Amino acid sequence: MKITVLTLFPQLISSYFDESIMKIAKEKNFFQLELKNPRDFSLDKHGKVDDTPYGGGAGMVQMPQPWLDCLNSINLENDHEIIVTSPSGVKFDQKLANTLSQKKQLIILCGRYEGFDQRIRSRATMEISVGDYVLTGGELAALSILDSSLRLMPGVLGDDESSKFETHSEINLLEEFKKLGVTKRELEEFLSETGLDKNSLENFKLVEYPQYTRPADYQGQKVPEILQSGDHKKIFLWRLKEAVSLRGA
Ligand code: SAH
Repeated sequence: MKITVLTLFPQLISSYFDESIMKIAKEKNFFQLELKNPRDFSLDKHGKVDDTPYGGGAGMVQMPQPWLDCLNSINLENDHEIIVTSPSGVKFDQKLANTLSQKKQLIILCGRYEGFDQRIRSRATMEISVGDYVLTGGELAALSILDSSLRLMPGVLGDDESSKFETHSEINLLEEFKKLGVTKRELEEFLSETGLDKNSLENFKLVEYPQYTRPADYQGQKVPEILQSGDHKKIFLWRLKEAVSLRGA
């Protein structure tokens, strides 16, 4: 995947990709990250990128010339998205992360101050908000979008199962039950204990179940015995029941 982030503060983005999983994924060429600063494209002799709003009002608005010249300098692949970060965009979620993880090219524009001139916004293929709150800049939004999308690319986490069974994942439980040899009786028991409808099992939205690691007894707080039983089927069913009660279904 080709990624270009347009930002006035490139180091905010680059530093994140210099650590941990994202660093390794970049080194393994799962994606190529390019950072472009619209300030470098400004035709103004002081490198101006923003100006006061027409019609009055507070703050500074990002100007079309540096941002659009910067955007136009990027070679576009067929399968690309031009994403403007904005608190008024569509709400980002796991499903959108999954869609973006399959694109050939992502271009993300990080706003600052009062945000973008409308003529910049109109070049976007989508506007994304990372939540109903306002940040001082789009960099944290871009990083959230990129991190959550990139970790879904097959191979990035090393073990693809890690991103399959976690909060917000949608899985087909009937299929998983079949693989584990869950009997009809066990299925019925599971349905009655959880109060779930069989139809809801096909695309089941997970919430992570409680996890434990060593020691088995931490100052008297014990790890549930079933997790030490080695019975994969029973463990899976137990975890699901816990997950269902946690998500309050
Ligand atoms: N005046 C704008 C807010 C500007 S905040 C408004 O009322 O909508 C400055 C920049 O931070 C925005 O241009 C955007 O790039 C980024 N930003 C702030 N909150 C965000 C959010 N919730 N999701 C995505 N980007 C956000």
